[in-house]
Amino acid sequence: MKYLDEFQDPGLARRLLDEIRATVTRPWALMEVCGGQTHTIIRHGIDQLLPDNVELIHGPGCPVCVTPLEVIDKALEIAARPDVIFCSFGDMLRVPGSDRDLFQVRSRGGDVRVVYSPLDALKIAQQNPHRQVVFFGIGFETTAPPNAMTVHQARKLGIPNFSLLVSHVRVPPAIEAIMQSPSCRVQAFLAAGHVCSVMGIREYPELAERFRVPIVVTGFEPLDILEGIRRTVRQLERGEHTVDNAYPRAVRPEGNPAAQAMLADVFEVTDRAWRGIGTIPASGWRLSERYRDYDAEYRFSVEGLTTREPAACRSGEVLQGLLKPHECEAFGTTCTPRTPLGATMVSSEGACAAYYLYRRLGTPPTPQEASPVA
Ligand code: SF4
Repeated sequence: MKYLDEFQDPGLARRLLDEIRATVTRPWALMEVCGGQTHTIIRHGIDQLLPDNVELIHGPGCPVCVTPLEVIDKALEIAARPDVIFCSFGDMLRVPGSDRDLFQVRSRGGDVRVVYSPLDALKIAQQNPHRQVVFFGIGFETTAPPNAMTVHQARKLGIPNFSLLVSHVRVPPAIEAIMQSPSCRVQAFLAAGHVCSVMGIREYPELAERFRVPIVVTGFEPLDILEGIRRTVRQLERGEHTVDNAYPRAVRPEGNPAAQAMLADVFEVTDRAWRGIGTIPASGWRLSERYRDYDAEYRFSVEGLTTREPAACRSGEVLQGLLKPHECEAFGTTCTPRTPLGATMVSSEGACAAYYLYRRLGTPPTPQEASPVA
């Protein structure tokens, strides 16, 4: 398949690995920011093929995993209302809230629907003018533009019964928070290529300079990851710390101006809590004042919820790269994709799910486990 097969070529992979081995003289710790990259790494065993002194630390770039428990609980409350049709991508349905998930809300009569685009939810709102339709808008700079566009369309078309429950997050403030953490071991970043295809790379040079870390924009196929690592360790060995675009087939330095304009129109930057990590200043988006009428949090005023994280779940440490999933005591025992304690075991981009699905238990996953989300 064009643009996929040629980025999985075993011969080229071996050559890149040889170059990495020939370059590295000291131990280095690199963080891949995105959960999609984590899945490629674990699925193809890239971390095991690298020299022992190159460690990959899995970052917090799984959108489902970092959505705060408080927002999940708000979603559950809103979805349980009889006047609401609650629409979401499938990943969110099995994410555990404090006492249930969206599947359980649906099994108890809630009208919870899986959609493949926020525009599908808008269509449902048009078809059901006497009911409230809420779309669960989570994720990074990648999912934010279509969600912004949907709200823009709702206002333009005069569809008053549509609203967005927003929990969008931004990558650069998270990189800043990781580097400022006293326990930080990260010496370089593989930046998420799809995020940069939207936002460009202009936010990264200042971070690379301030923290003296190489930041290499990296794609998602095995050769993309290996090339990102090759360029990163080359910089580290040379004592350099620049921003390098190793994913030029998708990323232009300026990003996607139309998407950025839509974001600027509909959203405003806000402090945002990240599940398991805490609040990171200026790390999220919320609907701007002009679009406040379309904000589900205002429309339904769901406040005063008491959240409860399972004590055994250490996903916060996993998301900060302080713990590998299989080092959690619950991994593969009380916590599996069928019985998840944390979002990192549910999400198709979660690190715990990647470790479980691709190798750590020694037994192949069942068909249901291989597709843990609806
Ligand atoms: S294995 Fe399960 S319990 Fe442990 S950190 Fe991951 S999601 Fe949480």
